[in-house]
Amino acid sequence: MLDGYNREINYLRVSITDRCNLRCNYCMPREGMSQIGHDDILRYEEILRIVRVTVGMGISKVRITGGEPLVRRGVVDFISSLASLEGLSDISLTTNGTLLEDFAAKLFAAGMKRINISLDSLNPEKYTHITRGGDLSTVLAGIAEVHRLGFAPIKINTVAIKGFNEDEILDFAKLSFLKPYQIRFIEFMTIGHAALDPSNQYLSNVVIREIIDRRYHLEPVNGRRNAMDGPAQIYRIAEGAGEIGFISPLSHKFCHACNRLRLTADGHLRICLLSDEEVDLKRPLRSGCSDADLIDLIKAAISKKPLQHDISCDESHRKKCMTDMSYIGG
Ligand code: SAM
Repeated sequence: MLDGYNREINYLRVSITDRCNLRCNYCMPREGMSQIGHDDILRYEEILRIVRVTVGMGISKVRITGGEPLVRRGVVDFISSLASLEGLSDISLTTNGTLLEDFAAKLFAAGMKRINISLDSLNPEKYTHITRGGDLSTVLAGIAEVHRLGFAPIKINTVAIKGFNEDEILDFAKLSFLKPYQIRFIEFMTIGHAALDPSNQYLSNVVIREIIDRRYHLEPVNGRRNAMDGPAQIYRIAEGAGEIGFISPLSHKFCHACNRLRLTADGHLRICLLSDEEVDLKRPLRSGCSDADLIDLIKAAISKKPLQHDISCDESHRKKCMTDMSYIGG
């Protein structure tokens, strides 16, 4: 399945809820987000139908996200059904990890073997601050449990935030040396309510890299494992157990290699993470459309994928995407 710029689209990210048990201060406004009404959230059967149709069109990889996907009731059974879809070679999950200790074994048994866990601070007080109330120990217990069970790879997503976690970059790097985790530094995207924040928390991965280079020698990990690593540039501290990845959507756009579509919890197909243009699939789905109609809608959405996003940290480019990540799913 090719888009208008000859990029092969084979990856679907599915948000199954916009609700979250954390309130990360850059991901949703203080007052919480406007929650999608219960009836407007796609039912699992509806999501499975869309995934099945897209798999028939060439999607081979699906990531489940949210909100926090583990807060939605029935998520384990849903993942089992997803894992049994023919043609889907890769399923993975992005979670804040707070409920993972309890869920890990059930997820593993359901067919989930790859996991990304979001963690922006290794300091308990700072973690509670950025998540507006989260408990770091629950996430660390979840990470230990997925490690014990044999999930691989285990990726830790760390958003680099100016004035918040620059002083922890080396702690995260050291974690990648000690444990077989891939620590991924993700550039802060100035979108949603963060686009209105004059303090500008963007921190370039160029700076992160410099901080690490001053202490450690990073070696590139050989061979581009594109399917597994997506847009991340992967390195390792010599003889380290794990890896360090840099995901730099602002300082080094990777739109030329974009292979993604995103399905929001209320059934909209987002054609670019950083553009608010969406195609509604829920209404046609609920009005009895055929699979052929769905395929046409999805094809039309793909044909509208832009060449590249238009977000940068400078003032004039900030307000191009006014949706918070908690709705999009990341
Ligand atoms: N609740 C799950 C979690 O915490 O991983 C999944 C949803 S969360 C929206 C997905 C990812 O988006 C998290 O890693 C989060 O840190 C990231 N994120 C949210 N807002 C962001 C922003 N403005 N820039 C960069 N990453 C962001």
